[in-house]
Amino acid sequence: MIRMDGRKKARIAALLLGLLVCAAGARGDKIVLKNGRQIVASHVTEQGDKVSYETSAGQLSIPKSIVDHIEKSGLMPVLESPAAAAANLAMTPPPMEATEDATEIDQAAVHDGAIDRAYIARVESDAHSGNARASDKAALAHHAAAQFELAHGDLEHALNDERTAVTYQPDQPVLLMNLAYLHLKKSEFKQAVEYLERAKQNAADNADIYKLEGWAFYGMNRVDQAVAEWKKSLSLRPDSETREALEKALRDKAEEESYKENESAHFQLKYNGEAEPRLAREVLRTLETHYERIASELNYSPPEPIGVVLYTQQGFADITQAPGWVGALNDGRIRVPVQGLTSVDSELSRVLKHELTHSFIQQKTDGKAPTWLQEGVAQWMEGRRSDENAAVLLQVYEGGQAAPLGRLEGSWRMWNTSWRRRG
Ligand SMILES: [Zn+2]
Repeated sequence: MIRMDGRKKARIAALLLGLLVCAAGARGDKIVLKNGRQIVASHVTEQGDKVSYETSAGQLSIPKSIVDHIEKSGLMPVLESPAAAAANLAMTPPPMEATEDATEIDQAAVHDGAIDRAYIARVESDAHSGNARASDKAALAHHAAAQFELAHGDLEHALNDERTAVTYQPDQPVLLMNLAYLHLKKSEFKQAVEYLERAKQNAADNADIYKLEGWAFYGMNRVDQAVAEWKKSLSLRPDSETREALEKALRDKAEEESYKENESAHFQLKYNGEAEPRLAREVLRTLETHYERIASELNYSPPEPIGVVLYTQQGFADITQAPGWVGALNDGRIRVPVQGLTSVDSELSRVLKHELTHSFIQQKTDGKAPTWLQEGVAQWMEGRRSDENAAVLLQVYEGGQAAPLGRLEGSWRMWNTSWRRRG
């Protein structure tokens, strides 16, 4: 680890973040307070009647008496990932009924850590000879392959296989749900709804259909419909993933119901009643200006309107449950704390441009851009350059102290540092 000093050097945090603090570890703890609030923090320790944790402002302590319990070393929630929050809902794919047949086909299609394409081809050629049972087998074999690919993070091939499975059994609800699931994973919400509606025709009482449909509506920013779907799903079958998703949606809804709305050509803005209407208008104007610039530089315009939420500081912390150092974030919507601001200053403008760039990249790449690329482009667009620090960066890199890019692909929220803090 290299020690650095001075504000100037702090500015290169963009890259150094990953390079220098990799030893901080990717695990975060959760402090659950008796009032239900949660603090996600790192290095939580208990000393006497106090609980201490690290923040960008240094170590903070709270009385143990207000703490209900501490959940240690769970991974941080990935709320902030520039991928839509919806893409990060923790939901598992609907399981296929494990009949004897299905299990057998499963084992024949995937074994020894690989997909047996020769077996799948044989089953398919039987199916093509018009054998109905062989069609069912071909569907299950492709489904097994898709599950394997999904488990290995290969969404594209999983989608291909699941789609093929559905061609062999076009009305099988679990296959349709799994196909919808893969579209949800890719933030393709409308396609997901199509398949779910088809699944409903043969399985109207299947809780998983409503669970997934809630996810689709949530992703489309239709929170009311998402809430209705998840409630329906829970009425059919209790499920912890659905309950958590519902609670998150209700938190969003409660906060945003007190909000006013405003919109411009490319944006839908919501803001707390306490914020200045003038500020809201200025934010929209600033965003439109940035939009034009980014669109011409990236040669791309996002097809969907972009949601923006302006928060008071506390509202921001409650809704996003982000650690203290997070200044603004983009989880599908641009969420910006504007406490105490009455007009758009250069700092806020910069933050808006940064977060807006994430929306462009998110939509242009279907959410496939890794975090390091997302952050690099966003910081470039907001005008940050690291050339004056290039020598230091090179030294770190050549000294073998750089974190591999692979470690910077996921969420950066586990990094406990103040690089993105405003003001
Ligand atoms: Zn960013």
